Amino acid sequence: MNTDLEIARSVQLRPIQEVAQKLNVPADELELYGKYKAKLPLHLIEESRWKKSKLILVSAISPTPAGEGKTTVSIGLSEGLNRNGHQTCVVLREPSLGPVFGIKGGATGGGWSQVLPMEDINLHFTGDFSAIEKAHNLLAALIDNNLQSKTRSLGIDPRTVLWKRVLDMNDRALRQVVIGLGGTASGVPRETGFDITAASEIMAILCLAKDRKDLKERLGNIFVGFTFDKQPIYARDLNAQGAMAALLKDAIQPNLVQTIEGNPAIIHGGPFANIAQGTNSVIATRMGLSLADYVVTEAGFGFDLGAEKFFDIKCQSAGLSPRAVVLVATIRALKYHGGVALSDLKENNPEAVRAGLPNLEKHLENIGLFGIPAVVAINRFAGDSDEEVAIVQQRATELGVEAVVADGWAEGGGGTTQLAEAVVEAIDRSEGDFRPLYDWDLPVEEKIATVAAKIYGAKAIDYTAKAKADLRKIAGLGLDKLPVCIAKTQKSLSDNPKLLGRPKDFVVTVREIEIAAGAGFLIPITGNIMRMPGLPAEPAAEHIDIDAEGNITGLF
Ligand code: ADP
Ligand code: MG
Repeated sequence: MNTDLEIARSVQLRPIQEVAQKLNVPADELELYGKYKAKLPLHLIEESRWKKSKLILVSAISPTPAGEGKTTVSIGLSEGLNRNGHQTCVVLREPSLGPVFGIKGGATGGGWSQVLPMEDINLHFTGDFSAIEKAHNLLAALIDNNLQSKTRSLGIDPRTVLWKRVLDMNDRALRQVVIGLGGTASGVPRETGFDITAASEIMAILCLAKDRKDLKERLGNIFVGFTFDKQPIYARDLNAQGAMAALLKDAIQPNLVQTIEGNPAIIHGGPFANIAQGTNSVIATRMGLSLADYVVTEAGFGFDLGAEKFFDIKCQSAGLSPRAVVLVATIRALKYHGGVALSDLKENNPEAVRAGLPNLEKHLENIGLFGIPAVVAINRFAGDSDEEVAIVQQRATELGVEAVVADGWAEGGGGTTQLAEAVVEAIDRSEGDFRPLYDWDLPVEEKIATVAAKIYGAKAIDYTAKAKADLRKIAGLGLDKLPVCIAKTQKSLSDNPKLLGRPKDFVVTVREIEIAAGAGFLIPITGNIMRMPGLPAEPAAEHIDIDAEGNITGLF
């Protein structure tokens, strides 16, 4: 069997100008990054068009650690829609280098559903992550410089500064560091740390910004800490936003690449799906909708995390009205929720599939809360038996939802035309009355309670003393009208990763509530969220190589 990289390399790439033509973008509008990548200028975004085109969100049931194939299905579905004659663009996140060198690998799809050139997209791409990293670290440098300053000191209490530094690398040794050592000329000693770039608030900001002006405003709104007199300090107090926005000059523009079948793909931004909104930039989504009749996009992890944030944070903030959800389910994940160990998921086990269905059912109920239609995509793996697949289809039919086998991984667009047809039919049948789950104006505790009760199925919420103090701090800062971006494990619908299937009668514990005033949301934390992952014992990096001609191997 061919590896993803072998498949990718077997494809004859088209010049990016040809791909742009499919979106009616003239060649002279492109800012070229070589032959196969280009940045799209922001003036191509047109409100009268993006409001009319149809946005399809690909989400998933609660995933196994390997991922259930949202990116793969998103790319495959867009190939299928294009094959069926619907002008479609897939819009996705940019991969982070952490997983590329760690366990999970890249994020450009798989098999015959990939975006290309996969080597470039997975390694550096057009430099957006580097720019975000620099903008983030510039603010960190300005903060420490102000702590050092005698003449222009803002009086910041260093113990209240939570702004860390970032690096796009899995490097656990940087999680907690002490900086400012070396005497009076070398800064004020204090404890801080590094997060991975995808976890940076700048990433979340870039992905929610509507234009350069909005970007600058959000950058200025970043909450830095308090002075010794308990006055809040924002990035604008350090005059940081102009230079940060300047560093992001090119990063704010979406990147155009192509799918294996030569269809357009826009790839832009890549925030985490627990402590941030987990989906590509607002600008990229609006761009896709301005240039194509259908846009297929993805939100990280399962529906409870990525999709809820997609709807309640991104869509509310940007005025987007999604028309359908494709819920990806795999036979292996259903068996996992049915109690089978990760090591035994390949064995035929219809009973376990049946036992895992309540997880799928809960996610389908949740989609209904947002007023848009659902289609289940059964992402087919080689070992899935017909009997196992039929069990899922039968249950979906009983629930009034169509479940279609998606085989884009093995067959490209040929394996997804049926799914594409089902999605278009679902959109055409529905009224398109998307409604978010909650009103941003509700009190913070009510917003958290709504998501936890309705989406997770929790019976109650517990707040630690720290979380209660955070609620008071947020109210004091006047930030209580922001939406909530709840950080929770992706492994379970609950906040306990061990509770698989459809847990009931559980209590969600909010340990603390962080402020992302620039991005424009609050982050209630319900578990240990890893913001600087480590590398595994045998990192993928050890198997990546490049030959004398510049051909890369070992990416997946
Ligand atoms: P997600 O976006 O949900 O995290 P991905 O689409 O990135 O998932 O897929 C996760 C991994 O599973 C990738 O390595 C991909 O190549 C692989 N994969 C996805 N679908 C299939 C399939 N049907 N058969 C085999 N491997 C698959
Ligand atoms: Mg993905």
